[in-house]
Amino acid sequence: SLEEVEPNFFILSPDSPLRETIQRAYRWYSPRFSPCDVPRFADVGSITEEWSVMRGIRDFLVARYRNLPEPPTHIMGFDARGFLLGPMISVELGVPFVLMRKAGKNPGILIESEPYQKEYKEKRAEAMTIRCGSIGKGSRVVLVDDVLATGGTALSGLQLVEASGATTIEFVAILGIKSLKGAQLSHSYGNGRFSKIPFFALVDESVLTEANCGDTAGYNGPRIIGYREALSRI
Ligand code: AMP
Ligand code: MG
Repeated sequence: SLEEVEPNFFILSPDSPLRETIQRAYRWYSPRFSPCDVPRFADVGSITEEWSVMRGIRDFLVARYRNLPEPPTHIMGFDARGFLLGPMISVELGVPFVLMRKAGKNPGILIESEPYQKEYKEKRAEAMTIRCGSIGKGSRVVLVDDVLATGGTALSGLQLVEASGATTIEFVAILGIKSLKGAQLSHSYGNGRFSKIPFFALVDESVLTEANCGDTAGYNGPRIIGYREALSRI
């Protein structure tokens, strides 16, 4: 029950029970209450705090990948929120979970992607790295993150898999912000070298309705309350 919203970009169909489950839990925050200057910051914590939603996501993705004629040999997750989803899938499938990390975080000899921009601009463009040998020729890799926005992050993962001589089976995220055309960025990159790689978001931005807003209405205080101040308020 998937819907192809653009070529090789899929989401769960509107009547999917998992889509509903995710929508009930997912919260977004406006810039006033979030760390980034994006209109709707999707809070992965609202998903992790609902263990049954996590279980639903895990069971769905495990079944999806286990049933492939050629199942993945590796799950690879993006620093940092991809780390919340990838391991629970990889342990069920019995395959390694590989950490894609920003330059300066991974040990060993590294392969580094081209620099990429994100929906919220960091001070300078970041690059992703993996350890040489963590995947290799013949590896079949699923890439995992919480959100697909402009797609810069996802593309860095495709580059690292390609540059390891491996194949990306699919990029998967909980939320795909369709309007930001993240799948298109990868699919049109480098003369279409990644155009056949499926992108899959469990839900799109239509689940982030006004009712999903996590902002505290009418709050005028500071967003961050220090330890001593918080103690004094107990
Ligand atoms: P992008 O590279 O633009 O596709 O951005 C995706 C990455 O940035 C993901 O790793 C997300 O964790 C984070 N991100 C981008 N936009 C948002 C958003 N609106 N809400 C939450 N996280 C976001
Ligand atoms: Mg991220």
